Parts: sequence; structure tokens; C-alpha cells
Amino acid sequence: MSILKKINRENLSPKEALEILVEGNQRFINDVKRDQNLSLVREELKEKQQPFAAVLGCSDSRTSLELIFDQSLGDIFSVRLAGNVACRKAIGSLEYSCKYLGSKIIVVMGHSNCGAVKAACDNFKEGNIEEITKLIQPAVSDEKTIPDSERNSENSDFVSRVCFLNVQKQMEVIVNQSDIVKDLLQKKQIGIIGGVYSLTSGLVEFDHQNAIFS
Ligand SMILES: [Zn+2]
Repeated sequence: MSILKKINRENLSPKEALEILVEGNQRFINDVKRDQNLSLVREELKEKQQPFAAVLGCSDSRTSLELIFDQSLGDIFSVRLAGNVACRKAIGSLEYSCKYLGSKIIVVMGHSNCGAVKAACDNFKEGNIEEITKLIQPAVSDEKTIPDSERNSENSDFVSRVCFLNVQKQMEVIVNQSDIVKDLLQKKQIGIIGGVYSLTSGLVEFDHQNAIFS
């Protein structure tokens, strides 16, 4: 049976969109995945997509968004870059999804034990990898609690603090650098929230405190 029609994508509120992701993540954790006939879904989507969520996640092979949130084809506009960095091209993709495809929520999702965050913690620079780590450096600088001698990727406490701050920072960058996102937030057409995925538990912990919802 098709699952696409169960969501009223046109009139979905940002909070309802978040709720769908939270419920999907619970199914993923509990290994109770939705039944879906992908050939039928593919057929329904052949002319048009209306992904209800736009997610900026990490490229890490263990953080596949459709699996983590138990969603299907056509549900998530997926923007993935190592370290979930909000470079201009990533922001442009999110703008497109929200303004022209009707996505109701932007999620910036980091994850535990992120290699890109660890590289930034060690101030790693090589080739074009530096293009990624330099965008995570503001989060490293924002972390003020760990003493100098312990600020490296061996320190899991430091890495997880930087990961959390990095999600916040990338959210700020998106809002500050995008007139389109700002406009849609002001019109209450979309919401934006950060979250961190645990590689061990499978849970995405959302940061409600720093979220912007209508
Ligand atoms: Zn990562």
C-alpha cells in the first residue's frame, strides 16, 4: 500500500513535520519499520516531489537519513556533507527545498563520533578536506570549558561538545546567510531545529531550546 497519501503535505505545520521524524526515528530504534511498496511509491513520485523535511546531515555512511527516520522516497530532501557544514551550496539546496518543493522543516543533524568534527578538533588540514574543517572551526573556538591540553579528538567529551556546538553554529549560518530561510521563518511557513544522532543507540536527540518554530 502507498504511504505517500497519509501525510497532508500541503497543510502540514513545522511541528507536525518534526513529529513525523520523531515517530520514524522511534520505529527505526525499535526495528519496527514501515511496510512500503517502493515500486508503487516510485510510480507516484515520477512527476513531482514534495519532501516534507529538508535535512542537512553528515556524509558518514552510518547516518543514512531515510533509514534513521524510517522515511521513503520523496520524503526527505537530503543534503549531506561531511560535518553537516552549511556552505553556500548546502544552504542553496535547503532554500530550494523549502521555497519550491514545500518542505516544512529544516533539520541540521550532527552525530556522535563524527570524523569531520574530530578532524576539526585536531585542526587537521589536507587537500580540500580543509574546506570542511575550517567551517567547523567556529564551533571548536566556541567550546570554552575544556583546558588546552585536552582539546583534541582523543577526548570524547570535547568531541561531543564541539559536535553539539557545530549543529548550533551551522543553524545560525543558515539563518544568517539566507534571506529565503529568514523570510519563510518569519512567515511561519517553516521551522528549523538541530539534532544529534547517536551511532550506538540510534536516537536523534533534538535541540528544542535553540529551535525556531512558529
Ligand atoms: Zn560525520
